[in-house]
Amino acid sequence: MNFHVITLFPEICKVYTDASVLGRAQKTDKGRGAKNRGKKIEVNYYNPREFSKDKHNKTDDRPYGGGPGMVMQAEPILRAWDKAVGKKKNQKKVKTLIMSPRGKQFDQKLAKQYAAKYDHLVFISGRYEGIDSRVKKILKADEVSVGDYVLTGGELPALTIIDAVAREIPGVLGEIASLEDRRVTSGETYTRPETIEYKKKKYSVPKVFLSGNHKDIETHRAKN
Ligand code: SAH
Repeated sequence: MNFHVITLFPEICKVYTDASVLGRAQKTDKGRGAKNRGKKIEVNYYNPREFSKDKHNKTDDRPYGGGPGMVMQAEPILRAWDKAVGKKKNQKKVKTLIMSPRGKQFDQKLAKQYAAKYDHLVFISGRYEGIDSRVKKILKADEVSVGDYVLTGGELPALTIIDAVAREIPGVLGEIASLEDRRVTSGETYTRPETIEYKKKKYSVPKVFLSGNHKDIETHRAKN
């Protein structure tokens, strides 16, 4: 899976996608646990500023029809998109997502769909008052929201979606982590030490977890 992120702030996104599981999934080394770990994902960034033809690299302007704030111009974004996926032969394997609080609500089902259906996901992150609407039309993009709240930019939404989709790509989590993945809904979980003290009060791991009886543990978890 190739992720392409069009953003005015690539540097704040890159530190996240280069760390931990996502960072490892971009490398070809034989990492911990699993054997034969090839590269599972690629993440590329495109800054509209670098595709601006304005002498000050301007990428936004005032909205037609008035109103507050600035709007991101279409052309730098379109040029960035061309660079990212414009030359891909099989455009059926390319999906473009515009981050928008008015978009379709992202969920696990969409994450699975994106992972199964596409080879290239392009994320367009807005800032300010959003993105010139012609971008959506020209690129036949979907507007996607990560939740019913408004953020200052589309970077966190893009990272959220990349993270959730990447976990759905076989091999990204590795063997051990995919076990963790399946258990994610089981909830209650503890690790060493058996007893901790916080503000003079002691907190112990429920006995059932020390029993080694997995059936009892599952019953306990289900009940709680
Ligand atoms: N008044 C603008 C607000 C833009 S917020 C509007 O109605 O669109 C600035 C940018 O942040 C948006 O262009 C979008 O890319 C991103 N954004 C904010 N909240 C978001 C959310 N819940 N989901 C996805 N993207 C969001």
